[in-house]
Amino acid sequence: MAAVLIRAGIVVTFDSDHHLHRPGGIHIQDGQIVQVAPIGAFEGSNLQTLDLSDRLVMPGLVNAHTHTPMVLFRGLAEGQSLLTHEGWYNAIRLWELYLKPEMVPPAVAVSCAEMIRTGTTCFADQYFHMDRIVPVVEKSGLRAALAFGIVEMGDTEASARALTETEAFLQQLRGHTRLKGWVGPHAFFADNRPETIRAELELADRFETGLHIHLSTHGEEDKICQEQYGRSAVQQMKSMGILKRRLIAAHCLTVPPEDLPTLAEAPFTAVIVPSSFTRSGAVAPPLRAMLTAGVNTAIGTDNVANNNSYDLFRDMRLLGKVMSFLEHKPGAIPARQIVEMATLGGARALGLEKQIGSLEPGKRADLIALDLSEIGWAPSAAQDIYTALVYSVSGMHVRDMMVDGQWLLRAGQFTTLDYATACAELEAAFAALRGRRAKGEQAAE
Ligand SMILES: [Zn+2]
Repeated sequence: MAAVLIRAGIVVTFDSDHHLHRPGGIHIQDGQIVQVAPIGAFEGSNLQTLDLSDRLVMPGLVNAHTHTPMVLFRGLAEGQSLLTHEGWYNAIRLWELYLKPEMVPPAVAVSCAEMIRTGTTCFADQYFHMDRIVPVVEKSGLRAALAFGIVEMGDTEASARALTETEAFLQQLRGHTRLKGWVGPHAFFADNRPETIRAELELADRFETGLHIHLSTHGEEDKICQEQYGRSAVQQMKSMGILKRRLIAAHCLTVPPEDLPTLAEAPFTAVIVPSSFTRSGAVAPPLRAMLTAGVNTAIGTDNVANNNSYDLFRDMRLLGKVMSFLEHKPGAIPARQIVEMATLGGARALGLEKQIGSLEPGKRADLIALDLSEIGWAPSAAQDIYTALVYSVSGMHVRDMMVDGQWLLRAGQFTTLDYATACAELEAAFAALRGRRAKGEQAAE
């Protein structure tokens, strides 16, 4: 697509003045946004026009914490908390032991399709088998920060192997326009040893990238760091120089309040995962204190084994309701701020705020279009747009999606992936996984 003018019923820009244009126009050239303005500004233009008058167009959502192959385990973690070591081991790890690499691509395809269908244009993934993940994400057309998972847990041979593979992976993705390789230690201290962490930092430095971790899911790192170093996990991270690197940390449920100013000074993002802490029966992260301290925050779905959806609109809604409930205050986190966490907040987390996260000239054309003729919008004069996006509609209102100027979804139809085939292949992969576990055939056999 060389140049196009999208004519939209409503354009939500998330520019610095939070302009809403009704109706609005977006001029896109070679995948880049040239102009966003009220439609009158384009009068007399001879640009090819795409009429989306019955759509609300906004920046694509950024899902800041996923494990795409784990859709294979959807439905297997009911009644378990994946935020404790025991729950994760019983619900997930015992299945992962039987996972074969060839089971990964259909799971990733289903995950990508579900994100496309519900409005996520960019995601931050963390898992192993990246060699199987990359080709599928590449084909999907999505933008992604793909972190090579490193699970050590005392197995130094496994971590040494993973570090070597991570280096090759980072080299492979160097210079890619949509995909960026990241380093993915599962967790610091409770999992990866200081020596391994230092090697991971060195890789991140050399390839000018970041680290994607889990932090403070039930206080284990803090306990270890207090015992071994006499300080909290965050202060130990600071003393090791970890906080100088771009870091995205999922959960952050039990970060001590006195550590939040340290995190606010760092290129650090706390990824809030509302479905995870609510369904696991865990504690809520200190979001109010994080926002007050100036910590960057984003939203993620985590693996969908106990979410069980990639629809980030659902997680925005859940977050808004839970925070009001916890603070005994209606609208505790304003709807616009929640949408900003899921767009610009995610873009900042990945260091992509100059490229994506808002609809502004010079940025890449990553956008979604929601159907204004669907249920939930009326009466339009009474509803604030951001409130409607968080509380009235869902990801299933998304009909069109563009990444880098390429349509991945048009009028509700996938253009890059075959969802029915991917689902059939996922069913077959799951049947094979279940069969292997029943026979006790572990991956190494
Ligand atoms: Zn996770």
